[in-house]
Amino acid sequence: MKANKINVLDTTAIRDCTGCAGCSLVCHSSAITMAFDKSGFYRPSIDDELCTMCGVCPDVCYKFNDFESLNPFDGSQVLAVTNNYIDDMNAVTTAGVATRLAEHFFTLGYNVCGVKYDYEKNEVSHDIASSLADILEFSGSKYMPSDAKDAFEKLIQEKKKTVVFGLPCQIHGLRKVIDKKKIADRFILVDFFCAGMMSQNVWEKHLEYLKRRFSISKIKKVNFKDKTQGWHKSSLSVVDEAGNRYRQNRFNDLFYSFLLRRLPYQEACYSCEFRTQVVSSDIRLGDFWGEKYKSWDDGVELVTLMNPQGIKAWEEIKDFFSYQICNEQDIYESQKSGSMNTSVKKPQQYEEVLKAFSSDKTIEEIFKDFKIATIPLGGVQ
Ligand SMILES: Cc1cc2nc3c(=O)[nH]c(=O)nc-3n(C[C@H](O)[C@H](O)[C@H](O)COP(=O)(O)OP(=O)(O)OC[C@H]3O[C@@H](n4cnc5c(N)ncnc54)[C@H](O)[C@@H]3O)c2cc1C
Repeated sequence: MKANKINVLDTTAIRDCTGCAGCSLVCHSSAITMAFDKSGFYRPSIDDELCTMCGVCPDVCYKFNDFESLNPFDGSQVLAVTNNYIDDMNAVTTAGVATRLAEHFFTLGYNVCGVKYDYEKNEVSHDIASSLADILEFSGSKYMPSDAKDAFEKLIQEKKKTVVFGLPCQIHGLRKVIDKKKIADRFILVDFFCAGMMSQNVWEKHLEYLKRRFSISKIKKVNFKDKTQGWHKSSLSVVDEAGNRYRQNRFNDLFYSFLLRRLPYQEACYSCEFRTQVVSSDIRLGDFWGEKYKSWDDGVELVTLMNPQGIKAWEEIKDFFSYQICNEQDIYESQKSGSMNTSVKKPQQYEEVLKAFSSDKTIEEIFKDFKIATIPLGGVQ
């Protein structure tokens, strides 16, 4: 029997939620809102007084729909891309393809939606750019959950051509919504090779630690992939109000010790099908890790053009980059210990660590309590 509403009281269903906001976007009676749960992930909550049990929300939720098992990369075009246009490689995560696509389509008059970090509120959210300066705020991966609902809602209402950047699960949710509303032809969707999403609580405890450790009162900028020591040995750096920069190589960094151990990811990430079997974007971007470009240290981007729409978008910006044509096997090779590692299981300590991060403990105490070590060069498998 088909469910006629997402049951937020069903703890299994809700814990497997990706927080994509699709359900809240299709709700006719505005009964569904999105907010952080105590574990630090976005979750829907349904107002029973407003809910009419119309049955539309499960239609767009992956939990209630079967996927055809397929190889989504079959027939896609695969490129290894390096940068020709940015002087400061620290301004972008990998080679800046996302930033260039955003600038290009903004100049053509599209709505461009990406993720910004509001340092005053310590909030990460999707936003619609109103200037080229806004697009620079989108540059750089932020490894904490983004609130997509308000921006996606506006994009759906405004009848403009639109480019959206987001995680595979967010882009899948949006794709289901725009297909249902029959407005998909005005959207270009770009997602990322993604191993998973960390809890906001981990980031908040890490921020507290950095402020304590370096006596910083305000943080003005965070770079999760500072390439001062190169792309392979990237660091996490923060800049304080006075412009001082504090940088820690990710192999010695507390936040990365948890992130690279996938502890604690959002529960749905451990069995995510959008990483490997279902791609709903036109373009998927990532880091071209692995042997092939091991000696390149500026950032080599894995660009996968999923369909003619993705190919056309790339054709419009390709002159800003150098690139080599690769093949489908390169995707699996470059992502085998990251987003395509299907052997990743939910760690045994998961529940306990999640609990600790919603307690009063500091990140250093949690690090010690669970005997977490820093990450050896080369990563953890
Ligand atoms: C949470 C997360 C996990 C990732 N995991 C992997 C991985 O396992 N393997 C891999 O190869 N690549 C991963 N990536 C992708 C990688 O970090 C780069 O984003 C990608 O290579 C594009 O680089 P770029 O230089 O083109 O991006 P830039 O030009 O620097 O632009 C950054 C883009 O990321 C978007 N963005 C930033 N933060 C978020 C967020 N929290 N949620 C959604 N979108 C965001 C911005 O809107 C912007 O479009 C991940 C990205 C994120 C955000």
